[in-house]
Amino acid sequence: MNLADTEIVLGILKKQGYDVTDNPENADVVLLNTCSIRDNAEQRIYGRIGNLKTLKQNNPDLVLGILGCMAERLRKDLVEDKKVVDLVVGPDEYRRLPEYIDVAFNGDKGIGVKLSRTETYDDIEPHREDGLNAWISVMRGCDKFCTFCVVPFTRGRERSRSLQSIVTELENLSARGFKDVTLLGQNVNSYLDEESKNNWDFADLLSASAKVDRTMRIRFSTSHPQDISVKLLYTITEHPNLCNYIHLPVQSGSNRILDLMNRTYTVEHYLNLIEKAKKIIPGVSFSTDIISGFPTETWEDHFATIEVMKRVRYDGAYMFKYSPREGTKAFKMEDDVAEEIKSKRLQEIVDLQQQISLEKNQEMIGKEEIILVEGFSKKSNQYIAGRTDTNKMVIVPIDNKIKNSDYIKVKINRATSGTLFGDYLSHIDIEKQGIALTA
Ligand code: SAH
Ligand code: SF4
Repeated sequence: MNLADTEIVLGILKKQGYDVTDNPENADVVLLNTCSIRDNAEQRIYGRIGNLKTLKQNNPDLVLGILGCMAERLRKDLVEDKKVVDLVVGPDEYRRLPEYIDVAFNGDKGIGVKLSRTETYDDIEPHREDGLNAWISVMRGCDKFCTFCVVPFTRGRERSRSLQSIVTELENLSARGFKDVTLLGQNVNSYLDEESKNNWDFADLLSASAKVDRTMRIRFSTSHPQDISVKLLYTITEHPNLCNYIHLPVQSGSNRILDLMNRTYTVEHYLNLIEKAKKIIPGVSFSTDIISGFPTETWEDHFATIEVMKRVRYDGAYMFKYSPREGTKAFKMEDDVAEEIKSKRLQEIVDLQQQISLEKNQEMIGKEEIILVEGFSKKSNQYIAGRTDTNKMVIVPIDNKIKNSDYIKVKINRATSGTLFGDYLSHIDIEKQGIALTA
């Protein structure tokens, strides 16, 4: 999401005549886009600011700015007290960034940290490097107020872009050859185009997006388990280029903890949903987010999370230690799970997920898959890499018939927990062969 925001910022600044440099020594302005979701994200930024101080010592005219979720939190500390940055601009004020930079060039502090109920940057063309993968923010903010989460405070209220502007952006991406686009929002299932008479929801947006270019894969993230609709599940089956992959964060397998987290669903509801999705979308795969060590979490609660992981058998998971965030409801609860217990539980969760990923990947040996070729493998230019519809990376020996952005059919012959290996079988002409994106 922050990368998507950075592209919006670049879009705004490029229009004003700014350009990007790879070398910070040459920069007149250095902007850091920040994240507040967990404490370690914030600590990394403090480290980066420390390094950039030297740049500023060498070039006193340099404007050093902080963007994103930490802006409001850092304003006092970095601008007023430590005086190391010249600019802090929060996620809803990027439109005025050029003005704030001018203020900073003139020797004052540029400060824009107000949140907005309406800003969606609907009309801003993000600046993207050419490639195959892109993402589009379709909505901003969040109204869910999960008790652990700082997002509703740093990114403000939920608001959606118009369906038409998203379709236009997809048309431009298609014309530039992008082939794999992810629609982003904190809870995409609350997407609502209120401006249109039809009150288009997220399923409508997915349908419209899928129709733009049948050779372009469409993904989305994140779905909240309370809001994902049956209509959405059926929509995925109606369009082969909508990927059969759902990121559905469970956070915990204990109803008591889910209640304390204000997640507004039970484990039973969640598992039911998974079953329903598996029935409606054959071959669907799931990933999730899990927090370990939320206040009052017992071993019993932890084992309930382990149980859910075993039941669902996720293809992937993002797993975190609970990190208290100031201003949230959970911040007022005692962070009473000792650090070493949090670490131990997290390690168990990570180990289990790795074992499940390995088993699931090994079950794919001998199967045929269609991948979108993305380029050389990271490790060797004797291999190319491409992803399946379900977001798994497959490595295949190079072949002069294969080039980037081809859809090819491969046979899986080996698997680790993170990667599949396969042999080339044939090319797929998506348009002629009835747009089947899975084998
Ligand atoms: N809107 C998404 C999540 C966005 S944040 C959703 O509801 O699914 C991404 C993930 O970070 C969350 O799903 C959660 O697992 C994790 N996270 C958020 N706040 C956290 C905190 N205070 N401590 C640890 N992990 C946290
Ligand atoms: Fe945070 Fe919950 Fe909103 Fe996700 S749904 S962004 S976890 S408040």
